[in-house]
Amino acid sequence: ADDCAEGCTAIEITRDSFEELAAATPPLLRAMIQYLGQSLRHRHAQPGHIADATDAVISIDETVMQIIALVDQFRQALQRDQGEIDMHVQPIVDLESRQISGFEALMRWTPRDGRPVSPGAFIPAIENTPLIVDATRFALNRSCGILKNIHDKTGNTDLFVGVNFTPADFSRPNFATDTFNTVQRAGLKGSNLDLEITESTAFDETCATADILNTCHALGIQSAIDDFGQGFSSMARLVDLNVHVLKIDMAFVKGMLSNDRCASAVRAIIAIANNFHMKVLAEGVETESEWDLVAALGCIEAQGYYISKPLPADDFLSLKTSWEADHPAP
Ligand code: C2E
Ligand code: CA
Ligand code: CA
Repeated sequence: ADDCAEGCTAIEITRDSFEELAAATPPLLRAMIQYLGQSLRHRHAQPGHIADATDAVISIDETVMQIIALVDQFRQALQRDQGEIDMHVQPIVDLESRQISGFEALMRWTPRDGRPVSPGAFIPAIENTPLIVDATRFALNRSCGILKNIHDKTGNTDLFVGVNFTPADFSRPNFATDTFNTVQRAGLKGSNLDLEITESTAFDETCATADILNTCHALGIQSAIDDFGQGFSSMARLVDLNVHVLKIDMAFVKGMLSNDRCASAVRAIIAIANNFHMKVLAEGVETESEWDLVAALGCIEAQGYYISKPLPADDFLSLKTSWEADHPAP
């Protein structure tokens, strides 16, 4: 890095990280990188060529470099498996009984410098690379372990965990059976797992989502469409999909008290869920007024800061006990 031209930063790109990123890069960008590589090799091959500092400089947008470095650091942290990457849990409450029925597992990454990286930054970066498949495998294994521990401590084997999956996960061969085997190996039932997929996975024609969800359904595994209402769901597609839960996008819940059209969107999603015999969950419930309204409108479950922020797994049981003491079943 010392002999870098002024204004440049040297970052280490390993062969693995380069190949992974190249595979996931949009074709146009990939072609540009190949072109730059070829012209560099061509210059080197010229008789009498004398290498200088500019030979090593390929000007790529700084943010691209930061993303490459971030992905590489994440891969190393995942390989080390020394607790830098972990799952936090956010309780989900059944609005009728007011009891905690399960939780969503959310990934957290605190590198060795002790400064957490936001999932909003690292998840989209790794989602563009095949590394997401390893990250999901880690998330599923860890989430199942956490849930089994909670089952053992509470004796309540109906508590479930929601884990986030992406189109790359669904494209893996034997995804459904592998996932079921992981759940079983952890000592859980299929119905203890809720696959959370976004509308883009649900409506992605390239992975056989409908077949996969059918197999999962037959194995007892539940599934939810996350951030519902944000994407471009088509009714025709929804008819084909064996989905059990619609998670209403947080933006509608945020807006529903001040904006009639957001409230109408929440009502419309509840009506769709009811007609398709799906459960409906309101995400991002932050206040008592939002809690009251989603309950009055007929949501089945709620999740959000009003109940709890995502917590380290070790804090889940004390949160559950205190929430349920404060909110006894009616
Ligand atoms: P998501 O799946 O929609 O998860 C819900 C996000 O909303 C979480 O953000 C959660 O902390 C936040 N949240 C929950 N309740 C409230 C609330 O009342 N108010 C507000 N303002 N926010 C609330 P987080 O943990 O930062 O995760 C962001 C996104 O990163 C997730 O959105 C999900 O898309 C992705 N993600 C997180 N963990 C994983 C993972 O293990 N695998 C994959 N593929 N994606 C993950
Ligand atoms: Ca989710
Ligand atoms: Ca969500």
